[in-house]
Amino acid sequence: MRSILTNNGTVYQTPLFLPVFEYGNSFVTTEALKNEFDFTALITNAYFLYKKRELKRSVMDQGVKAFLGFEGLVVTDSGAFQQFSGPLYLSNKKIINFQQDIGVDVISPLDLITTPGENRTTATKKLEATLKRIEEGMKLVDQAILIGVQQGGRFLDLRAYALERLMEIGVKYIALGSLVPMFNKNHDLGFIGKVIRQARRIIDPDIPIHLYGGGDPLELPFYISMGCDIFDSSSFIHYARGGWYMTPYGAFDVRTAESPSVPWDCECPYCKAGGKEVWKDDRILALHNLWMIRDVIQEMRTRLRENMLAEYLNRVAERHQKWFPESRLVESWEMLCKLET
Ligand SMILES: [Zn+2]
Repeated sequence: MRSILTNNGTVYQTPLFLPVFEYGNSFVTTEALKNEFDFTALITNAYFLYKKRELKRSVMDQGVKAFLGFEGLVVTDSGAFQQFSGPLYLSNKKIINFQQDIGVDVISPLDLITTPGENRTTATKKLEATLKRIEEGMKLVDQAILIGVQQGGRFLDLRAYALERLMEIGVKYIALGSLVPMFNKNHDLGFIGKVIRQARRIIDPDIPIHLYGGGDPLELPFYISMGCDIFDSSSFIHYARGGWYMTPYGAFDVRTAESPSVPWDCECPYCKAGGKEVWKDDRILALHNLWMIRDVIQEMRTRLRENMLAEYLNRVAERHQKWFPESRLVESWEMLCKLET
């Protein structure tokens, strides 16, 4: 199992899930994340804190951990995703310095996201620009870990090249960028699986890999088995808003679908207290969903230690296939397994 060693000497074992925490607009408090869920890490958006003057001042004065009320591992993203909604008027240097100044443990550069439809020329340009920004960042960051973000869009060879360059630059933490649109394709693990396996072959074995946006408790164990270590997502909230009830075997649409087959044996504190009423309340459903992710990650830690992952994957695959016969999960997983042998 790989770990993250922070600048102040704290070690965090992986696999690790970072719940997305949005200050002032969250379904869950940092208090609950620590004390009820036992999360030791979270991710929050640095750009959001940077752009609002009052927040910026307060977080600069206190430091991010005191500001959030969370002493564990704090990872930030940089606003790269917000570039889609308009110009940011933000430089890579400024947002990296800001993250370091407020005491973030793991810092994101302002990388350039590639959409799946973009061609090779565009993907190459964005990849080169992202590498430049990471090179610039490595010179600035001496009190935190800078994330080496892999770009390259849908081109596996560009993604391989990105990692080779990132190893030369000397990054100690890799994140796989621009894969979010690849999720929810009926659980097809194919492309993401290839990206993870290729990354594991290229980078140093002790460097952790972070899959930006990964947050379905059904899929996480498969990514973990291929060598991915860290995930972050607000999936638990998005799923809840859409009425989706997560389980380790797939999510059920509990509000619109006829769902006699929904497994009703959840042991999470919210279901125990509220029963099926959780289906009606977005907030409680989000907490249930987050609990499912937490449980799966904890289960993975135990199974990795005991070398018992394969048995778990087989059980999930079998039950998922039975409940969701249209899903591409099992077929795509079997393809990936064949490629490996
Ligand atoms: Zn529950």
